[in-house]
Amino acid sequence: MALQLISWCQTKYLKMAQGNINVQAENIFPIIKQFLYSDQEIFLRELVSNAVDACKKLQALSSMGEAKGDIGELQVEVIADKKAKTLTIRDNGLGMTGEEIEKYIAQIAFSGAEEFVQKYEDKADGIIGHFGLGFFSAFMVADKVEVYSKSYQKGASGARWICEGSTDYELTEEEKETRGTDIVLHISKDSKDYLEEHKISELLSKYCKFLPVDVKFGTKEETLPAPEVKEGEEAPEPEKITVDNIINNSSPAWTKAPADLKDEDYKSFYRELYPMSFEEPLFHIHLNVDYPFNLTGVLYFPKLSHNMEVQKNKIQLYCNQVFVTDQVEGIVPDFLTLLHGVIDSPDIPLNVSRSYLQSDQNVKKISSHITKKVADKLKQLATKDREEFQKKWDDIKVFIEFGLLSDEKFAEKAKKFMLYKNVKEEFFLIDEYLEKIKVTQENKDKKTVILYTHDAEAHHSAIAKAEERGYDVLVMDTALSSHLANKLEQDLTDVTFARIDSDTIDKLIAKDEEIPSKLSKEEEEKLKPVIEGVVNTQTYTVQFESLSEQDAPIQITQSEFMRRMVEMQRVGGQGGMMGNFPESYNLVVNSNHPLVGKILKEDDSETQQKLAKQAADLALLSVGLLKGKELTDFVNRSIEIIE
Ligand code: ADP
Ligand code: MG
Repeated sequence: MALQLISWCQTKYLKMAQGNINVQAENIFPIIKQFLYSDQEIFLRELVSNAVDACKKLQALSSMGEAKGDIGELQVEVIADKKAKTLTIRDNGLGMTGEEIEKYIAQIAFSGAEEFVQKYEDKADGIIGHFGLGFFSAFMVADKVEVYSKSYQKGASGARWICEGSTDYELTEEEKETRGTDIVLHISKDSKDYLEEHKISELLSKYCKFLPVDVKFGTKEETLPAPEVKEGEEAPEPEKITVDNIINNSSPAWTKAPADLKDEDYKSFYRELYPMSFEEPLFHIHLNVDYPFNLTGVLYFPKLSHNMEVQKNKIQLYCNQVFVTDQVEGIVPDFLTLLHGVIDSPDIPLNVSRSYLQSDQNVKKISSHITKKVADKLKQLATKDREEFQKKWDDIKVFIEFGLLSDEKFAEKAKKFMLYKNVKEEFFLIDEYLEKIKVTQENKDKKTVILYTHDAEAHHSAIAKAEERGYDVLVMDTALSSHLANKLEQDLTDVTFARIDSDTIDKLIAKDEEIPSKLSKEEEEKLKPVIEGVVNTQTYTVQFESLSEQDAPIQITQSEFMRRMVEMQRVGGQGGMMGNFPESYNLVVNSNHPLVGKILKEDDSETQQKLAKQAADLALLSVGLLKGKELTDFVNRSIEIIE
C-alpha cells in the first residue's frame, strides 16, 4: 500500500482523459478512505459548505449584475433517503455546466486529494479535516457519487456526473429543471450511520450551526400562537403547522456590529453555543479586527467551576462561519483557553499542522491581539463600574492570576484591574494598597511587608493580633498565590510578602525596638529540652523569642520561604525538589510569658512535663495542627485539669 501511495504522489499532475482520471495507482480511493477514517465525518461539513459557497457566489454574481433576474431565496438542503441509501446535499446556488464539473470536480478537487497524500507523508499530526479535501471527502462515506447540476448561465443545460470510487467517471447531459446542484452520495455499507437522522442532525449542529445560508434538514411542527378568545368562548385547539427545519443561525452574534447587540443578545448567543450550560457567563468581549489580519468573535468569561480540568465548553474556531475545531491551543494564549466563545478568522492557516501553526507569525499576532483585547476589556470593566467588577472578582481572579503569571504584557496592564482583597472584604488595586499600608507596614529595612492569609478562619488569632497593631491582611487563597507573591516581589521594588503564620507578629514586620527577655541564656537552655520532650522534633524546631507578655506563650510558625517553595512545586514551576520535602514548622516559645516562667520553675518533673505538653498542644490546636490521638489525649488531659 505504501508503495502505491508513493507512486501516486509522484504523479504530479492528474491529467484528464475522456472519462478517465489518469493516475498511476489503480485505485486511490480505498487508500484515502482508510487514512481519513478517524475524521470521516467532515465530509458533510465540506459538502454543505461547498453548497453554501455556491449560493454566496451566485449572490455576488447577482449583485454585480452578472446573474440576471431574481435569484430567489437561497437555500441548502440535506436529504436522507434510507430506502435508496442516499444522502443528497442540494443547493440552488450558481450550479455547474458539464465542462465546469470536469474542471472543478474531476480535476481540481482531485488534485486537492493529491495534496493531502503528499502532506500525509510528513505525518501532519491528525488534523486531516483541515486539509481542504473538499469535494473529495465524499468518497470517505460513499461508493458512488453523483453530481447533478444546472448552471445559472442563460441557456445552460443540465449535466450529470457519476463516479464509482475509481478513476473512471461518466459525464452526461441531462435535463434538470431547477438551477443549482445536487450532490448525491450512495452511502457505503460501512457508513450507513450517516443515513440516520440523529447522526446527520448531530453533524449539522456541530459543523454547520452558523453557516451564512439557511440549511434545511427535513421539517418540523410548530405551534401557532393562540388567537385571542372572547369571554365565554372556548379556546380552540392550538393550531400546528409544518415548517422547514432550518438547522442554522445564518447571522450569529459575532458577525454583527457590537452597537447592534444588547447584553441579552450576547447571553442568548452563549446559550446557543452551549445549549447544555446552565450558568450564565460573567461578561463578554466582542472581537472585531480587520487589520493586520481578519478576525471576529465573541469571548465569554464563564463562571469557573472548581475543577478546572473538567472543562467541557471550549472556545470554538470558525473559518468564515464554518466550524473547524475547538482545539485552540497555540492560537489563543494558554490562560485564555479557559474562556468560552467563538473566534472566526479566514487568516488562520488551517490546512497545516499544529506545530507550524504555533510558529506562524500571523497566529502569534492573533494571539497577542486577543490578550490585549481581553486586558483592555478588564480594565474598562474595573474602571467603569468597580463595584460590579468586585462582585465578579472571586470568579475571575484565577484567569487574571494565570494571565499575569504567564504573559508580561498582560501583567503590565493588570496593574489597572488586578484587585487585592483584604480580610474585611475591601478591594484595592496594587497602587492603592501600597499607599494604604506604606506607613504602618514598613519594616526596619524600609521594605513594605504585605501580610496575607489563605484562610482567614484558620488564621483568626494571628489576624486579630495583626489588626491590633493596625496592620492589614490580604486574602490570597488560590493555587497560584505563592507564584503570585514571588512575581510581585520581583516586579515591585521594596515589597515583600509574608503569610500571617510565617513568623511571630513582631518579626513579621520587624521594627527597631527590641523587648528585653525575662529569661537568661542558661534558663532557656534548661527549658529547651523540656519543650522538646513533648513535641515531635522532626517536624517542630523549638526556639525562644523575646515577645510581648500579651502574646501567646507558644506559637507555631512556618517559614515563608519553605512553604512557598513547597506550594509552588505542587502547582508546577520553580522549586526543585521541595515538593517532596516534609512539612516543617517552628515552635516559638515566648520567653516573657508568665506561663513559660512557671514551667521553668516547676520542680516536679511530671507536672512540668504536663504543663509544657498542654501549652504546646494549645499552640498546635490554635493552628489546626493537633489531630488524631494527640487531640484525644489533649481533650482528656484538659478535662482532668478542670475537674
Ligand atoms: P474548494 O471548496 O476548496 O474550492 P472543493 O473540493 O470543495 O474545493 O470543491 C472544488 C470546486 O468544485 C469548488 O471550488 C467549486 O468550484 C466546485 N463545487 C463544488 N461543489 C459545488 C456546488 N455545490 N456548486 C457549485 N460548485 C461546486
Ligand atoms: Mg470546498
